[in-house]
Amino acid sequence: MAGGWSRDGAVQDQIDASVEDAVELVRSRLPSGKSLLRCEECDTEIPEARRQAVPGVRLRVRCQSELDQQQDTQNSYNRRGSKDSQLR
Ligand SMILES: [Zn+2]
Repeated sequence: MAGGWSRDGAVQDQIDASVEDAVELVRSRLPSGKSLLRCEECDTEIPEARRQAVPGVRLRVRCQSELDQQQDTQNSYNRRGSKDSQLR
C-alpha cells in the first residue's frame, strides 16, 4: 500500500507540475495593468480600439505579433528539450 501511495503521488506531482507550467505560460503572455498609450517597444501610439479591446495592452499589433512569434519559437524549442530529457 505504501508503494502504491508513492507511485500515485509521483504521477500526481507530474500532472500538477505540467498544469503549473501551462498556467505560468498563459500568465506570462497575458498583459496586466493599465493599457499604455504608446507601444512599449517602439513608442508608436496604440490605437484606442486596441487599448479597449486588450486590457493592459503594452504593445501595438505589429510589435505584439513579432513578440508572439519569438515566444512561440522559444516555447516549442523548450518543449522539445524537456520532452527529450524525460524520455532518456
Ligand atoms: Zn511597437
